[in-house]
Amino acid sequence: MHTEPLRQDLVDLVRSIYGEGFIPLHRPVFEGNEKQYLADCIDSNFVSSVGAKVTEFEQRIAAFTGSKFAVATVNGTAALHVALQLAGVQRGDEVLTQALSFIATCNALSYAGAQPVFMDVDLDTLGLSPQALRRWLVAHAELRDGHAYNRTTGRRIAACVPMHTFGFPLRIREIVAVCDEYGIPVVEDAAESLGSYVGGRHTGTFGKLATLSFNGNKVITTGGGGMIVTDDEALAKHAKHLTTTAKIPHPYEFVHDEVGYNYRLPNLNAALGCAQMERLPEMLAIKADVARRYSEFFAGSSVRFVQPVDGTTANFWLNAIVLDSEAERDAFLKHTNDQGVMTRPIWRLMSRLEMYKHCQHDGLEHSRWLEARVVNLPSSVPDGAMLQQQGLRN
Ligand SMILES: *Cc1c(COP(=O)(O)O)cnc(C)c1O
Repeated sequence: MHTEPLRQDLVDLVRSIYGEGFIPLHRPVFEGNEKQYLADCIDSNFVSSVGAKVTEFEQRIAAFTGSKFAVATVNGTAALHVALQLAGVQRGDEVLTQALSFIATCNALSYAGAQPVFMDVDLDTLGLSPQALRRWLVAHAELRDGHAYNRTTGRRIAACVPMHTFGFPLRIREIVAVCDEYGIPVVEDAAESLGSYVGGRHTGTFGKLATLSFNGNKVITTGGGGMIVTDDEALAKHAKHLTTTAKIPHPYEFVHDEVGYNYRLPNLNAALGCAQMERLPEMLAIKADVARRYSEFFAGSSVRFVQPVDGTTANFWLNAIVLDSEAERDAFLKHTNDQGVMTRPIWRLMSRLEMYKHCQHDGLEHSRWLEARVVNLPSSVPDGAMLQQQGLRN
């Protein structure tokens, strides 16, 4: 139990960053133009599915990520559902993804009628492993007329969905290269990685499409919201069409040309997003500073503080540590939560959930090891008063 004294010191560190009272894992901050932009929406009566803030928010996300196109949606799960459909995923297909992810990834591919096949992650990035992916494809996939099929199940492998866990970029170039060999489109689940880069290029710009989330606990929030980003104009147009009930534009007639969705982001939510985007660079700098303090705290201890791999930059959405054992993890969770400092284990592996336990997987050695040891630490941007106190803002 060598991390025992560390636990209390960590609680003290968290309190020096965030103050007294209950400290959540990640809370939103609204210290910019949020109220003003919401009031503008209400005053103008444009609160719902039509309004200028949606377009402005889409343009801001496109510009920030360096994507040619961005289409706002009601949440990140909806964005992923539509992105999978746009990538060509159909009922009965299989989708290769991580077992180590939030449930939304699997929910979306289930909505699209597909089954997940679970691949292992890399221990350093916590994201989909290109080696594991290649090993599995070599052993289990065959190419027929340019499409990959699973030799065991006979099903088509229609897409691959890697996820940048907690905002730490995975080896996305290598993933895309392996998938290209097999004609498998990549849909990046970049829900957690707004502000994370690989070689200076924003995550979510490597695959055919990518999706973001602006849920209340993400780097920026719109209350609830999501975004599909892509460089493909036809896909972007189709994304807009599908997410807005597939209505053919007309001044008064209602004609729809396919089964669409009411997945459009309301103008009110987009207004929040515009205000949050104005402050994103500052929030990322503060998050990096919080991460630096955690990193210094854990340096020299046996606890690994997760860092982005060489050549990548993380947004430090959720800081993460890797403890020595499951017992250490449980003791750590208990001590910190008992003190009012929220910490959380990583998600239960998707391959262990009732709905997906029958799904094929590759053994998931690293995923299982990490599942027992990874814990998230409080990672919000501290409020203005705390920042002032710490000299991080005047
Ligand atoms: C947050 C998140 C999503 C999307 O979630 P919504 O709550 O629907 O916006 C998707 N994938 C991952 C990995 C996430 O963390």
